[in-house]
Amino acid sequence: RFIAFEGGEGAGKSTQSRLLAEALTARGLDIVTTREPGGTPGAEALRALLLDTALDWNPKAEALLFAAARSDHVETLIRPALAAGKWVICDRFLDSSRAYQGGAGGIGDEAVLDLHRIGSDGLLPDCTILIEVDPAEAAARAHARDGDAADRIGAKGKEYHAAVRARFALLAKQDPDRFARIDGDATADEVHARIMAALAPLMEG
Ligand code: C5P
Repeated sequence: RFIAFEGGEGAGKSTQSRLLAEALTARGLDIVTTREPGGTPGAEALRALLLDTALDWNPKAEALLFAAARSDHVETLIRPALAAGKWVICDRFLDSSRAYQGGAGGIGDEAVLDLHRIGSDGLLPDCTILIEVDPAEAAARAHARDGDAADRIGAKGKEYHAAVRARFALLAKQDPDRFARIDGDATADEVHARIMAALAPLMEG
């Protein structure tokens, strides 16, 4: 099974990926946790380039680099793990590219999906958990976590991040079978419980 976490900055994706991995491991499942951009040495090297605000990538170049990083990640880590019967939990995946570059960046959904088809054979998660939080609360969390994350939010501006959130919500509406929308305005334990409830059908199936 392949589970992805999505959401804006400071939504609590990393914390919830970890809590989910612990819960599934305790149930005896073989879990691989990973993240995007990154997850393999090549993709982590691309991550460093992508997160360097001084480089100021245009949205098309950004989308190509994300697609390249994802291709490496899918081919060398995600697919082999799934083929070996493991559960893969990924902090961000394709829908981040659709929301950031496709939506907020303006290159469009089709272009991002085309790149994904070419780069990763269009692999989709079995479930995409979208964590939605109040924007002010999310910004405060990102600031508290690390200054670099706060700088990246500042570099793109509030409108960009509002567009990201709106696009995530639209994508979830368009594909309710794959997406689980989770209200992230609660304690980490409470949000985790909501996620476990949303994943119950997948664990039985
Ligand atoms: O999830 P994390 O906070 O590690 O995300 C890293 C950064 O990459 C974030 O600042 C996010 O805005 C950015 N990002 C992006 N486009 C994507 C995925 C992530 O701009 N497709």
